[in-house]
Amino acid sequence: MDIHEYQAKELFMKAGLPVPPGEVATTPDQAEKLAQELGGRVVVKAQVHTGGRGKAGGVKLASSPEEARKHAEAILGMSINGLTVQKVLITPAEDITSEAYVGVLIDRKKQSATFMVSPEGGVDIEAVAETNPDAILRVPVDPRYGLLPHQAYRMATFLYEDPKLVKQATRVMHQLYAAFSENSCSLAEINPLIVTPEGDLKAIDAKVSIDDNALPALPEVAAYRDTDAEPPSETKAREAALSFVKLDGNVGCCVNGAGLAMATMDLVKYYGGDPANFLDIGGSSNPDKVVAALEIITADPSVKVILFNIFGGITRCDDVANGIVEATKRIDIQTPIYIRLTGTNETEALAILKDAGFSAYTSMDEVVETAVQFAAQA
Ligand code: GDP
Ligand code: MN
Repeated sequence: MDIHEYQAKELFMKAGLPVPPGEVATTPDQAEKLAQELGGRVVVKAQVHTGGRGKAGGVKLASSPEEARKHAEAILGMSINGLTVQKVLITPAEDITSEAYVGVLIDRKKQSATFMVSPEGGVDIEAVAETNPDAILRVPVDPRYGLLPHQAYRMATFLYEDPKLVKQATRVMHQLYAAFSENSCSLAEINPLIVTPEGDLKAIDAKVSIDDNALPALPEVAAYRDTDAEPPSETKAREAALSFVKLDGNVGCCVNGAGLAMATMDLVKYYGGDPANFLDIGGSSNPDKVVAALEIITADPSVKVILFNIFGGITRCDDVANGIVEATKRIDIQTPIYIRLTGTNETEALAILKDAGFSAYTSMDEVVETAVQFAAQA
């Protein structure tokens, strides 16, 4: 789960990190009032779950409350990477001497949390990795011991020479690691970590993603979920307990089991098509889940064909067939549906589908090839 910058800053503050104060506004009026309280010179920052807000015009400096109001008017309602801005963070404008990057993320290959730090902060870290890889130091953390003092010190000296800054940065590394591990993050990032003219470090941007599997154990963090800021398809899929990932193709896939879903997507590619999504309706799927799945898939305008691939084990094919029939009654589906099902209660399922005017396949190759051909012509 992604959270907003202002929420990430709350977690950082609890871990003791040097975060400037700030508050969220949803209207230009509120923005002006908050700017007044903060002394007038503020930054107005779009709160959306995406990076690069600065480049998109979603981070603006204001020298007066009136100007903060104008910026809030422009930023609220703005679309950044397809997400509409509904909140802005109002925070004091800081003077910046230098900007560094400090992030912790999960390195799957090393199976551990890994720090990435760079004195070239502020910008896209991916760009630094490409153009100047030597400017990034990577430090894996052994989960048995946590971040060790010499590791924190090494990163701090990679970023700064001044002993006062090195001391502060060493502390920042430990605090960030604590925030990362205590909140089961998959990412915790400060970009930029700035040096102020007074020679202090401040975390003026914060980006955090939480491991979804940890949310039941972290009710306070789970409460940060902002469904208004998520793509509607993802919210709907989560509420229906479906695993769903939107992709760029035009073949809508509805499959039971993650492995079969991957195999189906491979086969779509093999026959020259492109999947519009990954969707696993799960093990024991009741008809309601199938209806929800079809609502999500058909809401995507790029979907030209819908492909069901069901291997009935615990999932009963007749449940899926009933779900498909039920869905066509509840929602107006213009997109053709190609169905393959085999396994538990296959005979009953085929009868249900036949009665409703659907034909079904039992061969996976055949159904995928046919669906892909249709999508190519549509
Ligand atoms: P992002 O573009 O989404 O990463 O948003 P950031 O919060 O990182 O802001 C982008 C850039 O705006 C930063 O790298 C800074 O250069 C600049 N910026 C943000 N806040 C301030 C501030 O308080 N004062 C100054 N002078 N610049 C700021
Ligand atoms: Mn940033």
